[in-house]
Amino acid sequence: MKIALPEKVNYIIDTLMQSGYEAYAVGGCIRDSILGRKPEDWDITTSAKPQEVKAIFSKTIDTGVEHGTVTVMLGREGFEVTTYRVDGKYEDFRHPKEVTFTPSLIEDLKRRDFTINAMAYNPKEGLVDAFDGMGDLDRKLVRCVGQAHQRFQEDALRMMRAVRFGAQLGFAVDGATKAAVKELSDTLRYISAERIQAELTKLLVSAHPQEMRTLYELGITRVMLPEFDVMMQTGQDNPHHMYTVGEHTIAALLHTPEDKVLRLAVLLHDVAKPVCRTRGKDGKHHFYGHPKAGSQMAGEILRRLKFDNETIAKVRCLVNGHDDNPILTEKNVRKAMVRLGLNAYPDIFAVKKADILAQSSYKRTQKLEYLKRYEACYRKIIEQKQCLTLKELAVNGGDLIAMGIKPGPGLGKVLKQLLDIVLEDPLKNEKEYLLKKATDNLKI
Ligand code: ATP
Ligand code: MG
Repeated sequence: MKIALPEKVNYIIDTLMQSGYEAYAVGGCIRDSILGRKPEDWDITTSAKPQEVKAIFSKTIDTGVEHGTVTVMLGREGFEVTTYRVDGKYEDFRHPKEVTFTPSLIEDLKRRDFTINAMAYNPKEGLVDAFDGMGDLDRKLVRCVGQAHQRFQEDALRMMRAVRFGAQLGFAVDGATKAAVKELSDTLRYISAERIQAELTKLLVSAHPQEMRTLYELGITRVMLPEFDVMMQTGQDNPHHMYTVGEHTIAALLHTPEDKVLRLAVLLHDVAKPVCRTRGKDGKHHFYGHPKAGSQMAGEILRRLKFDNETIAKVRCLVNGHDDNPILTEKNVRKAMVRLGLNAYPDIFAVKKADILAQSSYKRTQKLEYLKRYEACYRKIIEQKQCLTLKELAVNGGDLIAMGIKPGPGLGKVLKQLLDIVLEDPLKNEKEYLLKKATDNLKI
């Protein structure tokens, strides 16, 4: 087995070895190289202690010296170099109380989560694979190093990581590993929202977002996203649908581009359907108000998972707008854009398309045709740079004050009225006309 290491990684390993230490590229980068995937980053493991690493390289950053990690800077690029270590006793399913350094590579590989993540390589020694990671890559299996039950008790996040790697690589989770997750999924509640958020995001933007179903089946969403369990258990007796809310959502994720905001928006677009479901006189289920209620719920869920405000705002806009279907005149589309927030465009079209493609085939052609015309109308409005905001209005507050209108809330109201006029008819975005309109209005 020969792996092409980047020049700089080779240089670091070589330099450490020249100084009498052992050094290997390790973990995800080896897994990805063997699979022919492009590694995200190259981690290096070494028998050298952090102080020794720092003494060898001229530019280093103390990333986590107490855990053995030093970042070696080569030009603008940084590489994490971590001393062989064993993790001490774990407390609360969370983190080792202390780590101790070890002279043994095998000991270091033993503390790693999955066999496919526990291989090391350098050009001199070749591949070090003590736990049959190669066999599991071949079998397409995510399997714990050692006893799954014990490994999840050490760090409960590993349960989510197992499913996440499965989603990224298109692998199954090994049977014994899965059984251990089922037993221990409740302990995920000890894990910080930040760590859970990172794993959820990676799973969602992966090639296999349908692995959300595995999170559900193994009892993981019950802890970190119970709203999803309710969706999985809510049927939709309506001609537009053929799945439960949850299965519809999974199908929609598969039709969504691999983008964080889009996938989060689609994951949560129908989150309020369970609470909004009613049975109509027609005998069918209806979900009145679910986009607005869903936007609210999405905000609460994403805050709980510690997503950033920008992501939350954007996702909320998309959830709120996902079922808004204006009659297609330019005027109506302009108004929809202002109503839903310009933030929601053009991403709303990807969300709506995914939603339609995951519904029953009832009226699908018409729905897609409508969507195409909606988007074309939007494009035209943008291309023509039609006025949609106060900033683009041909008059501003200063103009009105110069006309003798007093500054204050009244002034804002007048500007809004003028914007409404222009949204009705963009040709009216003319200074003279709008100023006259403003003074006329005041006289009334
Ligand atoms: P990616 O970077 O795509 O998330 P990765 O395999 O590089 O994948 P990282 O989280 O960057 O994953 O971790 C690097 C390596 O550290 C892993 O390959 C694994 O060997 C080890 N590791 C990371 N997190 C854990 C953990 N919670 N428990 C045990 N080992 C871990
Ligand atoms: Mg990594």
